[in-house]
Amino acid sequence: MISKLNNKELDQKIKSLARAENRLLALVIEHIKEADRRKLYLDFNYSNLYDYLVKECGYPGGSAQRRIDAARLLAVEPKLKTKIESGEINLSQTTLLQKAFREKSETTLAQKRSLIAKICDMTVGETQVIISKELDLKVKEQTKVTHQKDGTVRLEVTFTQEQWESLQKANDLASNATQSNDLGTLIKYLSDRFIKQKEGSTATVAVKKQVLQRDQCCQHKDHRTNQLCGSRWNLHIDHIKPRWAGGTDDIENLRVLCQKHNHHIYRQQSGIKILPSASDEKSMTMKFLQLKSL
Ligand SMILES: [Zn+2]
Repeated sequence: MISKLNNKELDQKIKSLARAENRLLALVIEHIKEADRRKLYLDFNYSNLYDYLVKECGYPGGSAQRRIDAARLLAVEPKLKTKIESGEINLSQTTLLQKAFREKSETTLAQKRSLIAKICDMTVGETQVIISKELDLKVKEQTKVTHQKDGTVRLEVTFTQEQWESLQKANDLASNATQSNDLGTLIKYLSDRFIKQKEGSTATVAVKKQVLQRDQCCQHKDHRTNQLCGSRWNLHIDHIKPRWAGGTDDIENLRVLCQKHNHHIYRQQSGIKILPSASDEKSMTMKFLQLKSL
């Protein structure tokens, strides 16, 4: 019974299981290498090894790809097996290597073997640095923004060393509040704080209540028909003249807007252009206090 083990026994058990897991992993990869060589997947009517591992063996896509990468690297360097068994090299590293070798197809066998030897016991970050140095990979500088079908946005950014250190420091300082190590979470957290500092409403709860009682619903008017939006969903208090433009918290300068019109006006005022996507609500940082919380 696991719950009966004392701490020392539990520690030893986990360590011995981890070693067994590495040995098993190396064995799996060795077999996948052989399946690759034989093109075993053709027997099962799959056109490639990846489909065979996912559909026939039940591996999640990412796990299947990492195992294929390692298996193909093992074909290059038989010594890799013992390094995976011992935990000196892990699958994140072998995947980085294979990706780099695909990018630099002229890499020689000797270069490949020498790199495999060099990355033993390195972290993923260290591995990335040595690979890009040894293979002289291009330094990517351009920021790339990709809007994805589920409304999320994927960002590829190159930071200078200084920028990166500063971001890491901010991440450490914010980790208690964000409870996360994710960069997206950190950037959202910092943005929210900055926006709140720049534009946050300082109107008192009493004033906000008065505005809500007066307006009752979204006060946005269609500029052609002059018709009121009138929505009562997700209402926010908006400064008619923005605070950054010198607008006050006086009741005359405040009005109720629904979330959609709140964002709409905010974008107009700040000149922010946002590509149409399903992520509007998700990607816009919250700017105003929700009335629900009053
Ligand atoms: Zn509205």
